[in-house]
Amino acid sequence: MKTVGFRSFALYILLFAFLGGLGWLVVSLCLHGSQWAMQPYNGHIYDEDATVALGDITDRDGEILAATNEEGRRVYSESETVRRALLHTVGDSAGYISTSAQYALRTKLTGYNLVTGLNDTVFNRMGNQVGLTIDAGACAAAYEALNGHRGGAIFYNYKTGDILCKVSAPTFDPENVPEDIESNEDYRGAYLDNTLSGSFTPGSIFKLVTAAAAMEKWPESWSARTYECWGAEEIGGSDITCLGEHGELDMYGALGYSCNLYFAKLANDIGAADLQKKADEMGFNASQSFGSIEIAQSEAKLSGADANQLGWAGIGQYTLLANPYHMMTLMGAIAGCGEYVQPRLTRDGSFFAGLIPGKSRELLSRTEAVQLRAAMRNNVENYYGDYLFPDGLQICAKTGTGEVGETQDPNCWMVGFCDSAEYPIAFAVVVEDTNNSLGDAGGVAAAVLGALVG
Ligand SMILES: [Zn+2]
Repeated sequence: MKTVGFRSFALYILLFAFLGGLGWLVVSLCLHGSQWAMQPYNGHIYDEDATVALGDITDRDGEILAATNEEGRRVYSESETVRRALLHTVGDSAGYISTSAQYALRTKLTGYNLVTGLNDTVFNRMGNQVGLTIDAGACAAAYEALNGHRGGAIFYNYKTGDILCKVSAPTFDPENVPEDIESNEDYRGAYLDNTLSGSFTPGSIFKLVTAAAAMEKWPESWSARTYECWGAEEIGGSDITCLGEHGELDMYGALGYSCNLYFAKLANDIGAADLQKKADEMGFNASQSFGSIEIAQSEAKLSGADANQLGWAGIGQYTLLANPYHMMTLMGAIAGCGEYVQPRLTRDGSFFAGLIPGKSRELLSRTEAVQLRAAMRNNVENYYGDYLFPDGLQICAKTGTGEVGETQDPNCWMVGFCDSAEYPIAFAVVVEDTNNSLGDAGGVAAAVLGALVG
C-alpha cells in the first residue's frame, strides 16, 4: 500500500507539472503569439522564401511604399529618394527600425491571428494592407531639403491628427543596405527615428515656454514689460550674451529678434518654480507614447539652478532638451487654442498616439495660445519674411539655435504652424550641425509646405 501511495503521489506531481506547463504555454501564446511570429529572427517573415506575404503599405494617395513581390521578396518605393525619406516611417526588411510601421504594425500586416496563426492558409495567403496618412512627395521634399544634414522633420494636420511628413536623417536605402552601416560614422544613429526617439537642445524655441510663463504670471501686464539688451550682461556671476545689441524691447520685439538678455532676465523674474510649472504643463518631463512607441522625453529640470543657469534655461540652453514630435504637438496646441489633437499615422486610426483615438489634450490656456499665436505670426510677418514660405499660408513660427558645445555647430530649429483653415498644418524641424536656423530649418519647412499645398 505504501508503494502504491507513493506512486500515485508522484503521478499527481507529474500531472500537475504537465498541466501547469500546458497552461503557461496557452497563456503565453495568447499574450505573445503575435510577437513570437513576427520576431526578426523568425526568418520566414522577412526572408526571400517567405511563406507569408506582408500586406502593402501605401501613402495617403495610395502610392505603394512597401509591397511583397511575386518571388516573395519585400520591395519598397520605386523612387530611391522616397525609400530613403521614408525608411524610418515605413521600415526595413531586417526589422532593425523598431519604430517603423512595418515593425509596429507587423501583426496587422501579416494578418496574424490566434486561431490560424499566420495567414498562410487556403483562405488567405496575403497579409492586410496598411494605409498611412503620410504624403510621400512631402517626405521626399524634406529629405532633399535636409541636404545631407542629420536631423528630423515632422508635420501634421492639427485638425485631423494625420501625420503628413515624418523624415529622419541619417538614413539609408532599404533596397541597398550599406555594407559598412555598422562601422561608417556617417550612419551613426541611422536606425533611430530622430522625430520620435531623438531629443535636442531647444535653444530659442523654448522662449515660447518662457513667454507663456510670463503671460500666466502677469496676465494684465506681460506685454508692457520691457528689458534692455546691450549684447552681454552679468547675471548670477557670469555673462549671458546675445547675438545683437537690441536696446529696450517688449515681448513681441524680443521674440522677433530672439533676444537672449530679454528672456534671461524674464526667466529670473518669473522664478524657477513658476517656469518649471509652465514647462511641465506644456509637456516637458512627461512620458508620452505613440501607439506602442515610447516618445523620447523633452526635459526641463530647473530645481537647483542658480540665477545664471536659470537665465540660460529661459533661452533654451542649460540642460534642456526637446523632442520634435512633442514640439509638433505643442505647435498643434497653440494653433488649436490650447488643445492638440493626437497624431495618427494610419488612415483607419489603428496607429494612434494615446489610448483614445482623436482625443485632444490641453497644454496651455486658450488666452496664452491666442497671444503666442499673435507673437509667432508677428515673427514671420515682421522679422523672418512671408516670402520664405508658399503664399497665403499665414505662417506662425519661432526659430531656435541650440548650442551643443564647442566641437560641433548648433542644432537649428524651426517650429510653427499655418494659421489657415484650408491648410491646418503644424510642424517641427531640427537640422543638426549648422548655424542657419532660418535658412536650413526654415528651408526644410518651406520645402515641405510647398509640396503639401502643391
Ligand atoms: Zn538681445
